[in-house]
Amino acid sequence: MAHLIDGKKWAKVSREETAEAVKQLLQAGVQPGLTVVLVGDNPASQTYVRGKEKAATEVGMRSTVLRLPKEISQAELVSVVQKLNQDPTVHGILVQLPLPVQIDENVIVASIDPLKDVDGFHAVNVGALSLGLPGFVACTPLGIMRLLTYEHISVEGKHAVVVGRSNIVGKPMAQLLLKANATVTICHSKTTDLASLTRLGDIVIAAVGKANLITGDMIKSGAVVIDVGMNRLDNRLVGDVDYASVEPVASAITPVPGGVGPMTIATLLYNTVQAATKAL
Ligand code: NAP
Repeated sequence: MAHLIDGKKWAKVSREETAEAVKQLLQAGVQPGLTVVLVGDNPASQTYVRGKEKAATEVGMRSTVLRLPKEISQAELVSVVQKLNQDPTVHGILVQLPLPVQIDENVIVASIDPLKDVDGFHAVNVGALSLGLPGFVACTPLGIMRLLTYEHISVEGKHAVVVGRSNIVGKPMAQLLLKANATVTICHSKTTDLASLTRLGDIVIAAVGKANLITGDMIKSGAVVIDVGMNRLDNRLVGDVDYASVEPVASAITPVPGGVGPMTIATLLYNTVQAATKAL
């Protein structure tokens, strides 16, 4: 039976550590500020943003949500971001994606000051990660590395198989694992014989968006399995990992919900404290 990696528990620990860091910053005269920009009325985005706002307030940050109409032009949105770049009370800026069709997400992300890019999506931060330089790292993959650290699961010398190569999860995940001295294989939709590769993994990280894609016969006995997926199936939230068949084979596994998800928001708060500390 696999050990359950309790993301909710570790996210609470992370938030408590962040709240302590916020207290110290307040004593130094700085209240970390996170501003989330929400364009339009996408219901999923509204839910995510409410979660981020609440979590930031609870750790003592100044938390602001700018709700903008879905008709806003790209130039107007760039100008909103530029004002936030100049505002010394704003340490972290997050523009909730996706954006309406008239707006090029790349242009908006590029307009964020890299020093306030707590989502870690700006090319400067992505480049810093690949060069092994300091910078902000996307919250989901960084949250997974922090989860592994809390659990005392070392990745050094292990073979890590990352399934998925998106810019927000798969690619930065692979970079972080490489930086931590794992041997990394990246799989994607054009990978032939996925199972033959996942079976080699001491650590398997699934970030695909396909319910129950990874099954027990694809996992080596004793592997650590991290499930990033969030899929709706029969009105339930399920991961990319078929928990029922993988759990008996793995040594440790994250559940969905309650695994990677809570650590993502906790890591956004962690990144915002880093931004405020750098601004001191
Ligand atoms: P994405 O941008 O759609 O990327 C999915 C990746 O999976 C792509 O690289 C794709 O390959 C690959 N893929 C698709 N079908 C595959 C298959 N049959 N075999 C192997 N690889 C396959 O998704 P994402 O943004 O990375 O998100 C992935 C999942 O994680 C989603 O369920 C999302 O909701 C979830 N997520 C969760 C959190 C959290 O906090 N828990 C955060 C972010 C995302 P190609 O590149 O070849 O198309």
